[in-house]
Amino acid sequence: MTFEALKLTRQFLNAVEDAGYKEPTPIQSQAIPPLRSGQDVIGIAQTGTGKTAAFLLPLLQTLKYAQGDAPRALILAPTKELVLQIHHEAMKFAAYTDLRCIPLYGGIGHKSQLNAVKTGVDVLVATPGRFLEIYLRGGFEPKKIKHLVLDEADRMMDMGFMPQLRQIQEIIPSKRQNILFSATFPHRVERLADEFLLWPTRIEVSPESTPVETVEQLTMELPNQRTKLEYIEWLINDRLLDKRLLIFTRRKEDAESVARYLQRSFPFEVRSIHSNKGQNARINAMDDFRSGSVQVLVSTDIASRGIDVPETEMVINFSVPSDPLDYVHRIGRTGRAFRSGEAITLQDPSERYAMERIESLTGETVRKLEVPGHLTMHETPRNEKQLQARAIDREMRKRDPLYKGAFHERKKKSKKDIAKKKSAGKQR
Ligand code: ADP
Ligand code: MG
Repeated sequence: MTFEALKLTRQFLNAVEDAGYKEPTPIQSQAIPPLRSGQDVIGIAQTGTGKTAAFLLPLLQTLKYAQGDAPRALILAPTKELVLQIHHEAMKFAAYTDLRCIPLYGGIGHKSQLNAVKTGVDVLVATPGRFLEIYLRGGFEPKKIKHLVLDEADRMMDMGFMPQLRQIQEIIPSKRQNILFSATFPHRVERLADEFLLWPTRIEVSPESTPVETVEQLTMELPNQRTKLEYIEWLINDRLLDKRLLIFTRRKEDAESVARYLQRSFPFEVRSIHSNKGQNARINAMDDFRSGSVQVLVSTDIASRGIDVPETEMVINFSVPSDPLDYVHRIGRTGRAFRSGEAITLQDPSERYAMERIESLTGETVRKLEVPGHLTMHETPRNEKQLQARAIDREMRKRDPLYKGAFHERKKKSKKDIAKKKSAGKQR
């Protein structure tokens, strides 16, 4: 299958060629024809399979060239990172046209976006909330919107966007093309589709729980965070010194401390992103990682779906995500569309259970790596040991609600210990 066979016009074939795409991905070859002919389409395909181009190419080709001032297409996505990424792709594919595409997202003032929209626009890429805000401030006339795309619909439902989506449905024309893309198709997305789409063509490529095939998955058992950090440091020195690397942590504190540690050890730029960072800091970190000026990005799961940097050669899971779907998303950040990647998951003794859940979801056994002989196995500090014990307790209780963990006894004792110490202190 070729892009020519999908009847893309010269302008878009050129843009696709510039992007370095040699052949369409399965979701692209199946979704582009019905989308070109104006049908409502539901597209379900795992992350990293090229869904963005699957809707952008036919959409932009339908819009053809700049026309009037009011937007004719609206693409909604759940986060500003995704909005920016879709916008970035749209600009790329529209390079040989005069189509105008503007991103709308929250966290910064309205003024610049309002002004931008007023100069005329063909495609709006927006988070639902910010779209409504700009509309309510009189930014644009919504009656020309004839195409609606809901991207990452599952995530939008998870984030509770239904009320906003309904409001948006009220203000845009009911006669329009509706397009819904999602990595998964749980019940709530099905309901969304029922409410928004009319006799859609449903295209499903492969279930989300299948990790991208091009990613080699590995795991290693290490006793604690310090040992994990020293392993990562060694690994970078050994063979990743000039490679783009993404590291995921479960907690924001860990994202901070891992980034700080690595920044001290290496000359290249290391950045962290998590929900406590401001909007601009997050966008800048992502942009700089994309451009290569940041070589190592340490992130919590907020970014596991937003980051799209095809050059990412390795994903390291500093901690095992407790939701196995997060794992699939995290490792899907490498091995994007026809490239190959590697994902190493470092697990401490308390994370074995989460790893087992991942293996049972994906139906694959992740290959265990031997710990390199020269690596020092550090003693696990007392508070980390306690965190691990608590995590094991939680896992055991999940399996057996009647399980009474050893941890509780220990905790009571340690409280007594503290009381003892306190009174000892007073006596002195
Ligand atoms: P999804 O939305 O399905 O998670 P994206 O649309 O973000 O995936 O695409 C993932 C990556 O694959 C991007 O870097 C994109 O540029 C690249 N890509 C998309 N289609 C192709 C293709 N046909 N050939 C090569 N790379 C592609
Ligand atoms: Mg996508």
